[in-house]
Amino acid sequence: MRTGINTLFIPGPTNVPEVVRRAMNVPMEDQRGPEFGAFVLGILADLKKVCQTETGRVILYPGSGTGAWEAAITNTLNPGDKVLMARHGHFSTLWAEMATKLGLDVELVDLAWGAATPVNEFARRLAADRKGRIKAVFVTHNETATGVTSDVAAVRKVLDDSFHDALLFVDGVSSIGSIEFKMDAWGVDLAVTGSQKGLMCPAGFGVLAVSPKALAASAQATSKRAFFDLKDYAMLADTGYFPYTPPAQLLHGMRAALDRILAEGLENVFARHARLAEGIRRGVAAWGLETCAEHSSIASNTVTAIRVPEGVDARDVIRIGFERYNTSFGSGLARLGGKVFRIGHLGDLNEAMCLTALSVAEMALAEAGAAVEFGSGVAAAQAWYAQGRTVRANRIAAE
Ligand code: PLP
Repeated sequence: MRTGINTLFIPGPTNVPEVVRRAMNVPMEDQRGPEFGAFVLGILADLKKVCQTETGRVILYPGSGTGAWEAAITNTLNPGDKVLMARHGHFSTLWAEMATKLGLDVELVDLAWGAATPVNEFARRLAADRKGRIKAVFVTHNETATGVTSDVAAVRKVLDDSFHDALLFVDGVSSIGSIEFKMDAWGVDLAVTGSQKGLMCPAGFGVLAVSPKALAASAQATSKRAFFDLKDYAMLADTGYFPYTPPAQLLHGMRAALDRILAEGLENVFARHARLAEGIRRGVAAWGLETCAEHSSIASNTVTAIRVPEGVDARDVIRIGFERYNTSFGSGLARLGGKVFRIGHLGDLNEAMCLTALSVAEMALAEAGAAVEFGSGVAAAQAWYAQGRTVRANRIAAE
C-alpha cells in the first residue's frame, strides 16, 4: 500500500499541473463542430510563441516526439539525401537510426556520451561540402540521456558562414518550453517536441514547427509518407481542423498549460529552470559525484545525469527510490544503464520539489552503497536557492 504522492523526477513525462489535469476532464465534443477550429487555432498561435516563431507553422500530430521526428524527415527529404548528424547519447543515436531506416545517407560524427553537438567539426564538414550534398544538419538541442545542451545558434552561424543551404533540424523534445529556444532567430527549419515535457501535458501529441523554407522543401520531397503528410495538415494551420480525429481532451490540457506558461512568461520559465537546475548540480557536486555532461557550460537545465561511484549500481538507486520512497528517477539509457541515474527537473517544478529529489537520492544512494553524507546535497541546494531569494529581495528593495 502506497501512501502520499508518488513524486516524479523523470525527464518526461513530467508532472501535469492540477489545473491542466482538470482542464482535460470535459465531455466528448464534435471535433468538426463550429467552435473547435477557433479553439485549436488559439493553441497553435500560442505554440508559435513558445517556439519563438512568427514565420513558422506549427503542426500537432497525434503521436509523440518520435512521430514528429519521422514527420520532419519524410516531409522534407528524399531517399538517399545526405544528412549530417552527431551521436552523443541515446536520443541522438535513435534519431540517426531512424534517418538510416528512412533511407537517408547519414554522415555521422561519433562522440563521447556527454559531449555536445560538435560545432567545429560540423563547420569543417559543411565547408568541405562545396557541391551542397548535405541536405540537412540535425541537432539534438537537449540530449536527455546525458543531460547535455547544444548550441543551436552556433550551428546556424556555421551554416551561414559557409553559405550552406542545408535545412536545420532540431530535436527540442526536452528543451522547448523549458530552455531558451528561438526558432526564427536561430534559423531553425524543423523543430520537434512532444506534449509531455516542457509543455506539462500527458503524452499524445508530437509537435512539429516548420519554417517557410522547410514548407517549400516539402512540396518537392519524395520520401514516402502517409499519416504524417504535411499536405493533409495544411487545413490545420488555416482552419484549426485536423485531417483525422485529434485527442480533444489533450487539447484542453494544452490550452491550460499554455495559459500557465504564458502567464509565468517564457523568460521567467527559462530563469526558473536555470535556477532549479543549478541547485541540483550543486547538490551533486556536494556528494562528490560527477555528471555525465563533459563540461559545466553544456550542462542541461532540464535534466541532470549523475554517474554513480564505482561499485554502485545506478539501477539499485532507482529501485530503492521507487520502492522505499515513492520517487521515480530516470534510468541510465542504453550504454549508460547501471552507471547513471537521472533527475529530471523540467516542467511544473519548484525549489521544494528539487530538494525532495536530492534528499531521496541521498537516501537511495547511501542504501545502494555510495558514501554520500546525508544532507550534504540538500544543504548545497538550499544555500543556492535561499541565496537566490536574498539577492532578488535585495534587488527589489533597491529598486
Ligand atoms: N528526443 C529526445 C531528446 C527525447 O528526450 C525523447 C524522449 O524522451 C525523444 C526524442 C522521443 O520522444 P517520444 O518519447 O515523445 O517519442
